[in-house]
Amino acid sequence: MPAEIDVAIIGAGVIGLAIAREIAHGKKEVFVFERNRTFGLETSSRNSEVIHAGIYYPDDSLKAKLCVEGMNLLYRLCDKNNIPHKKSGKIIVAADENENSWLKQLYEQGKRNGVNDLVLLSRTEVKKLEPNVEARAGLLSPSSGILDSHSLLRLLYAQASEKGAEFVFGTEVIGIERAGTRYKVEIKDRDGISAFVAHTVVNCAGLNSDRIAQLVGIDIARAGYSLHYCKGEYFSLDSKYRNLVSRLIYPAPEQAGHGIHWRQTLDGRVLLGPSAHYVDAIDYVVDETHKQDFCNSVRRFLPFIELEDLAPESAGIRPKLQGPSDSFRDFIITHEENAGLPGLINLIGIESPGLTAALAIATYVDRMMS
Ligand SMILES: Cc1cc2nc3c(=O)[nH]c(=O)nc-3n(C[C@H](O)[C@H](O)[C@H](O)COP(=O)(O)OP(=O)(O)OC[C@H]3O[C@@H](n4cnc5c(N)ncnc54)[C@H](O)[C@@H]3O)c2cc1C
Repeated sequence: MPAEIDVAIIGAGVIGLAIAREIAHGKKEVFVFERNRTFGLETSSRNSEVIHAGIYYPDDSLKAKLCVEGMNLLYRLCDKNNIPHKKSGKIIVAADENENSWLKQLYEQGKRNGVNDLVLLSRTEVKKLEPNVEARAGLLSPSSGILDSHSLLRLLYAQASEKGAEFVFGTEVIGIERAGTRYKVEIKDRDGISAFVAHTVVNCAGLNSDRIAQLVGIDIARAGYSLHYCKGEYFSLDSKYRNLVSRLIYPAPEQAGHGIHWRQTLDGRVLLGPSAHYVDAIDYVVDETHKQDFCNSVRRFLPFIELEDLAPESAGIRPKLQGPSDSFRDFIITHEENAGLPGLINLIGIESPGLTAALAIATYVDRMMS
């Protein structure tokens, strides 16, 4: 590890990998520091693997813009590199009149965001597409889909490495200090503590990204950078439900998430989730007592699901800027020049649709750095 490098990226989730792949080239020394033994072991491998179209997010938000852009880039990358994926389409379903008016709002929002293929469906049209789904109405998003996120992570890692990015695993960034026009970065690995100097630091530390910003001396409460953890659990369904539904089926969105949806994975398993509840600490245990809630939720559009057919599957934690009673918060992707920290780029609150948007986020950060 040289004493001085050009760029230090903190975190090897999908965002750090995509940025490393985008910015690494022969002349630039790019190092990615990851506290775990390898890449992609946190939120990037604990999500729904849905390629979102960009429907839900407010006008001109980064989430809307980068999701729409990212989706197109992602499909192209998947096609070109044989990443398993499927443009299955998705239907957001309304169970009552109130939710029906939600669908119309979502349709308009999606159109404003540049999602031009949305179709409002009547009850009969939903039935025609998905005979097993009960709904008063639906909103079809033909371009939504699913992918194998593990294959994507492996590809981004391989391409970033080929372009010259160096990965330093099992190494935690524990201190960052402005040193003249550069940053002194302190790291801890199994050999102890050491330090190096970087011209640019890119913070993509996921659930820990607010604390990384704090290390550099940013008052995160004042800056609005403090993260809340919001857990999402998944339950699997018995294999007898395979192939009963061919698209992703989502309910009307909730305050903290997109709602518990139905998804058949690329290997044929049927999964329900994620739920959304705020937690104080990170753990990935699925609470079996939530089974009934999952069942009630999915029975609104698939009334034949039986409680005993659900089994706990997995969980992920959203790094949310939005607290339990807050309104929408956008991704923070910012060059901290105005805070007197040129060369520091913070990415905070990269929750959904971060997986979909990753490639677009990478080009956005690249432009920010040049
Ligand atoms: C339940 C759930 C469902 C989701 N579903 C979808 C979906 O269907 N579609 C979609 O587009 N998005 C989805 N998302 C969002 C998506 O998963 C995230 O936006 C994305 O994975 C964020 O990637 P990341 O690289 O920022 O974070 P991470 O994958 O968490 O990576 C951050 C990395 O930083 C490392 N790190 C932290 N601190 C340090 C340190 N001090 N030193 C060194 N390394 C450090 C961590 O170890 C970690 O590996 C979902 C998220 C959740 C939780």
